[in-house]
Amino acid sequence: MRDATRVLRAGLPDAVQGEPFLPGPAFAATFHLAGDPASSPYSYGRYHNPSWTLFEQALGELEGGHAVVFPSGMAAITALFTAVLQRGGVLVMPSDGYYTARLLAEDQLRKEGVEVRLVPTRDGVDYESLNGAALLLMETPSNPGLDVCDISLLAAMGHERGLLVAVDNTTATALGQRPLELGADFSVASDTKALSGHGDVVLGHVAVRDGQWAEKLRAWRTRTGCIPGPMEVWLAHRSLATFDVRMERQCLNALTVASFLEMHPAVHAVRYPGLPGDPAHVLASRQMKRYGSVIGFTLRDRPHAERFLSSCSIVSQATSFGGVHTTAERRARWGGDAVPEAYIRLSIGCEDAQDLVDDLSHALQA
Ligand code: PLP
Repeated sequence: MRDATRVLRAGLPDAVQGEPFLPGPAFAATFHLAGDPASSPYSYGRYHNPSWTLFEQALGELEGGHAVVFPSGMAAITALFTAVLQRGGVLVMPSDGYYTARLLAEDQLRKEGVEVRLVPTRDGVDYESLNGAALLLMETPSNPGLDVCDISLLAAMGHERGLLVAVDNTTATALGQRPLELGADFSVASDTKALSGHGDVVLGHVAVRDGQWAEKLRAWRTRTGCIPGPMEVWLAHRSLATFDVRMERQCLNALTVASFLEMHPAVHAVRYPGLPGDPAHVLASRQMKRYGSVIGFTLRDRPHAERFLSSCSIVSQATSFGGVHTTAERRARWGGDAVPEAYIRLSIGCEDAQDLVDDLSHALQA
């Protein structure tokens, strides 16, 4: 099966006469449970849930491994860090990746005795920073700068040194890049973004090749009580049916918009891995199936960036990315990312591409 077909069937139970394709969310804390708890697939709502089971089956099919769902992308990253790292352990992670993951590592893990080494995505990881480490986390393309690193090469380098290797696959998604096939041990993602795609769900997952790690992550989830709600999981599963169609449209739109921006005299330093002139294009073409829906670019200064944003009408001002609605923000408004004051992160949705170009053109003129 190819992705477009796979997403429609992923995680659906076997056909049963009179039953729905995807059963509704299983709202249950308690389950009928007489005698030996091991005799029942479900016992208590913090341990497991039929909606999680189906969605995890679906994610496993898309990622090519075993998947464990969490209530947010950050919860998935926390589970990964906590399951793998111990006091005295070393974590290597991007200096230019998602800000909150860095905060978690620098504020929380360091306090707990984990050494955190930050390395830029673009220049790859030097051998020295990997020595003695326990976990390498890459983020490619990185958010918000959209730099790319070589997953296969770094996974091989990490494995030579006995590290576990993880990729934050949020910007690419499982339909844009398959980290487990490229050699990573873990693929972690925020499903708040393109996977669920409608801006109505916060969710995340970790996918892993080794089933024993999936069990460890599940045990962590059960013990911490860091569990997703059945409604959110069901909504995300329902959204999978249109995931490929959405990605197809969004990536096509993104290339059209990035090509337009690249030619516009008011716009500098357009970043989109799908642009042939982008510094990441050659590597991205090797390891990605799609280039994603996120574009970065820089305007003259902060007032110009703010005027541009408030002059857009189809493009809405919002944070997050990957959804069906095109959104943009001046990323530096949050602090924490090493991007210029006038850097715009633009997330392309499913609108008509010409409408988007017209809206951006008008706002750039303003
Ligand atoms: N990883 C990346 C690359 C992200 O961009 C985000 C959120 O923006 C996260 C992880 C965290 O995901 P969530 O907001 O679902 O916790």
